[in-house]
Amino acid sequence: MKIRARSTSSRAAVRPPDADTGPDGSLELAAAAARGNAYAPYSAYLVGAAVRTSSGRVFTGANVENASYGLTLCAERAAIAAAVNAGERRLAAIAVVTQSEPPAAPCGMCRQTLAEFAGDDLEIVLVSASGKRLKTTLGALLPHAFRPAALGK
Ligand SMILES: [Zn+2]
Repeated sequence: MKIRARSTSSRAAVRPPDADTGPDGSLELAAAAARGNAYAPYSAYLVGAAVRTSSGRVFTGANVENASYGLTLCAERAAIAAAVNAGERRLAAIAVVTQSEPPAAPCGMCRQTLAEFAGDDLEIVLVSASGKRLKTTLGALLPHAFRPAALGK
């Protein structure tokens, strides 16, 4: 029996950020492309994320909503899970593309998940669909993060 995936995502035109932004540019473009895969039939709020690991590899994710709203998976955590599933454990940077103006920051759950695999110096680039960007760090978004060291790990 042939099973065919049916696309039910609400796709929206995504204007990728300018490509002339140096090393971060490619990460932003990867996040913008991932945003096109978002499954967001309830909120229509499409999010794409791309993480660069300490080894230089890039992994992407998009938000995946659920009829049971609380089960929604954020794009950031989807990208982190992809990296971890490939054996990566340290993140160097993340780009997140949303439709918000100004660009939206990761939710608290995603900030805590980032803290599991990155230090305060993690570079975070937030990009709006129109290409406006805001650069920050994990330390700025989640000061005094709870980390594995608190458990002696
Ligand atoms: Zn989140």
